[in-house]
Amino acid sequence: MKIIDEQEPFQDWEKEVECNGVGWRQGDKVPCGSKLIIDRDDLKLRKWFKYPDSEGVNYGFICPNCNCFTEIPTDELDKNLRKLAVEWRDNC
Ligand SMILES: [Zn+2]
Repeated sequence: MKIIDEQEPFQDWEKEVECNGVGWRQGDKVPCGSKLIIDRDDLKLRKWFKYPDSEGVNYGFICPNCNCFTEIPTDELDKNLRKLAVEWRDNC
């Protein structure tokens, strides 16, 4: 196999975001409101299930200050970018 056009379009992707906890219940954590710039390595995904047969995935980031998860709307993330998101689990 030979790569004739290597694609690395998201090397420099970054986005200004705010830690507001939108899109997820935080348990006993409180979103701190920090403004952050995230890059592709910060993308996380969380899977959710709702009885009986509903499920989906939320994309977002974890704030390093308060550890809250804030969602980034799926349509703001290219599908190749979404593939880079790492699954995040915790107990809330
Ligand atoms: Zn925060």
